[in-house]
Amino acid sequence: MTTENNDKVVAGTWSGDLTPPDSIPSKADVVIIGGGIVGVSTAWFLARQGVDVVLCEKGYIAGEQSGRNWGWVRQQGRDPRELPMMIESIRIFSELEAEIGESVGFSRGGCLFTANREKDLQAFHEWVEIAKDFELDTRVIDATELSTLVDGATPNWYGAMYTASDGRAEPHKTTPAIARAAVRAGATIVTSCAVRGIESSAGRVSAVVTEHGPISTSVVLCAAGAWTSMFCRSMGISVPQLKVRGTVARTAPAEKVLESNIFDDRIGIRRRDDGGYTIAHGSVLDHGITPATFRYSFKFIPALMQEIKVLRLRFGKDFFDELGMPTKWALDQASPFESNRVLNPEPSKRVLRGIRRNLYEVFPKLAGVDIVEAWAGMVETSPDVVPMIGEVGDIAGFHIATGFSGHGFGIGPGAGKALAAMLTGGENSIDLTPFRLSRFFDGTPIRPMSTI
Ligand SMILES: Cc1cc2nc3c(=O)[nH]c(=O)nc-3n(C[C@H](O)[C@H](O)[C@H](O)COP(=O)(O)OP(=O)(O)OC[C@H]3O[C@@H](n4cnc5c(N)ncnc54)[C@H](O)[C@@H]3O)c2cc1C
Repeated sequence: MTTENNDKVVAGTWSGDLTPPDSIPSKADVVIIGGGIVGVSTAWFLARQGVDVVLCEKGYIAGEQSGRNWGWVRQQGRDPRELPMMIESIRIFSELEAEIGESVGFSRGGCLFTANREKDLQAFHEWVEIAKDFELDTRVIDATELSTLVDGATPNWYGAMYTASDGRAEPHKTTPAIARAAVRAGATIVTSCAVRGIESSAGRVSAVVTEHGPISTSVVLCAAGAWTSMFCRSMGISVPQLKVRGTVARTAPAEKVLESNIFDDRIGIRRRDDGGYTIAHGSVLDHGITPATFRYSFKFIPALMQEIKVLRLRFGKDFFDELGMPTKWALDQASPFESNRVLNPEPSKRVLRGIRRNLYEVFPKLAGVDIVEAWAGMVETSPDVVPMIGEVGDIAGFHIATGFSGHGFGIGPGAGKALAAMLTGGENSIDLTPFRLSRFFDGTPIRPMSTI
């Protein structure tokens, strides 16, 4: 079977046998919960500094968000708080393949947000002023220049915001490759190993308790993606977090009509390293209402208002699934993390129909190209759509890194570097105070400055 016809190129990341480990280490300097790009990158940077680090993943490396995303590695359009970390991250991406000796499909093809209305251009000009402060190459281009970058698209775009130095990488390759590099550097990575909770002594972390036994440690990073809020809640820590479902597809290799990632009202599209395209709908955010929606709704009002036009609310299974989950459990009994090894939502059939229709309408040159694989992922987001990072709660040594929203893949390696410095108390070139969890509880206005 050729790569392009294999319908599990992406889903292969979270398929196959999950073999429990024969044994796990009894102690470590640092234990990381979660094998997404954030946890794995942190493990890589820690191991390279000689830190004894163990990463526990309940399912597969990159089995949730980090293997399912669009693969955009972009600086463009971000909240300014994220830009220093993101600029460092894309620098790490540009050297990653040489550093680790594996392909992750990274290339700097640029990023385009197109303007369907004249007023979109005004918003783009405003963001270009932010870009100038960070010496980015972002600019607003007119329709004529745009037509030289995109071949045969039908919309009458007014122009676009364009960052030539932005890029893309293949999610199904990137995080597993960084995980292998972390292991070569000395990290221990254990899959099929859910962490149930934390033990403490004299107000400090003393161990993480996994389904395969305890690991003594005094420093923990919870990089558990969509599960962080639930994990922390079991410890009495409130982490406001909601989820939206994103449906994604990929085409077979096809004629090249673009090099840059393009975001338009109708389609989000990027070229893949196998010559196909990864595609998604440009304006659908699918939120299944759950008890967490009500718990955190007040803090999420600004984000919900911002996304109101694209938000599709559903009430049903998600609500009752979450309602049925325990909020506390004994550490010597199975936890919800073991009964939910992989968060694997069904792609929406309706959204898939829209993706196919929009692809063929916007790019007639791609009309008829086969869509060979479809999947979905749950994007977890914070109320202001930027991450929550730092030591939290009453137990010293317990840290979180979560809430990366719909843009944590690109920033993941940069976050990993900054997190490694945070955990070891080393010099950090990135100021992490804007990401403190307490901003949602100390009266700081909650103002999303980018989209989910
Ligand atoms: C459809 C979609 C499109 C996106 N597009 C982009 C994009 O183009 N560009 C971009 O930059 N970002 C994008 N994102 C966002 C990006 O994928 C995420 O922000 C990023 O992957 C988050 O990484 P993470 O390591 O924090 O979390 P995850 O990748 O979700 O990893 C968390 C891991 O923790 C594990 N875990 C949880 N609880 C436990 C426990 N108790 N014990 C052990 N393990 C546990 C989970 O199994 C999971 O594997 C997209 C996301 C989605 C879903």
